[in-house]
Amino acid sequence: MSLVSPILQIEHITRQFSQTILPAVTQVSLTLHPGKILGLLGPSGCGKTTLLRLIAGFEPVQSGRITLAGQIVAGDGHWVPPERRDLGMVFQDYALFPHLNVAKNVAFGLARQKTKSDPVLQTLALVGLKGLENRYPHELSGGQQQRVALARALARRPSLILLDEPLSNLDIQVRLHLRREIREILKDTHTTAIFVTHDQEEALAICDQVAVMCQGKIEQLDDPETLYRYPGSRFVAEFVTQANFLPAQRQDSMWKTEVGNFSIQPDLPQEIGTLMIRQEDLKLHPHPESQIVVRDRHFLGRDYAYWVQTPSGKILQARLSSGAIAVGDRVNCIVNADAVTLFP
Ligand code: ADP
Ligand code: MG
Repeated sequence: MSLVSPILQIEHITRQFSQTILPAVTQVSLTLHPGKILGLLGPSGCGKTTLLRLIAGFEPVQSGRITLAGQIVAGDGHWVPPERRDLGMVFQDYALFPHLNVAKNVAFGLARQKTKSDPVLQTLALVGLKGLENRYPHELSGGQQQRVALARALARRPSLILLDEPLSNLDIQVRLHLRREIREILKDTHTTAIFVTHDQEEALAICDQVAVMCQGKIEQLDDPETLYRYPGSRFVAEFVTQANFLPAQRQDSMWKTEVGNFSIQPDLPQEIGTLMIRQEDLKLHPHPESQIVVRDRHFLGRDYAYWVQTPSGKILQARLSSGAIAVGDRVNCIVNADAVTLFP
């Protein structure tokens, strides 16, 4: 139990749209503490935006309860409309007013809309837009427009900021740069935030905690390292680590696969399972008699991606720092038993 009271507490909320069979959000519960960044990660359609909209009050909850900064805002017969929920929002498409300049966009929603006021200029300086107060959105790059949106959300100093795929429309260079900056700004201002993304690397990089969603449910909520090292289900493992998966069969005290036999802790009671091997844990050693063949190799700058084919035709991916092994070579796969995870 933490002694600090949470900014946000969600208890068993569900939202079912009449047009769909499965609810968009099912029995979701989570707690968010001040200053923390929570990631919502999952494939398209898993309910991330719906969950944000429920928190923001753009959607009604059908069951469960949402408590924001100590006040019940939805559920148990309570309803607080979005404009009174003390939230900031940042969307994928920036959603700036095209007819207002930068300062006026940021000032929008402040109690007194004075564009030269301290909060506006301070927040613009914070997001690196000092001097651009009088520009219009169409005179800014995508990255700069998203900074304006972030400044607008931050200017009122809300209890919580909700960011829905804010970097997805930007090109990779800007995305990587802004990723670092957003985290820095949120941390410097001690802002509590929920960051929605379908990009696992982005979620791991930015967030203190990540909730992996699948079909309206939270599959696992953990800190990024735990999520990556100890995925609790095959779905989380596939989505977060992009690892290799191999059928495995128990034989005496070992689990047998096409690439080797492993003594695994903790073990499973079943006779068959699926073994997860991360790309970076799969080492390749040349061996002319091996049945495993290198099918492809990409030079990625920092390292090499390899695709090898097992005797049954399965393709496994490896990341190696050296490109010494060539396409067509026969190799043995060497994997440390500590690095594999067994799923039922
Ligand atoms: P995500 O943001 O993770 O891509 P969404 O929350 O947008 O997912 O959508 C979750 C599910 O709910 C999807 O199946 C989507 O089609 C459905 N959905 C979302 N909004 C509506 C709506 N207003 N009416 C009907 N179905 C909706
Ligand atoms: Mg969405």
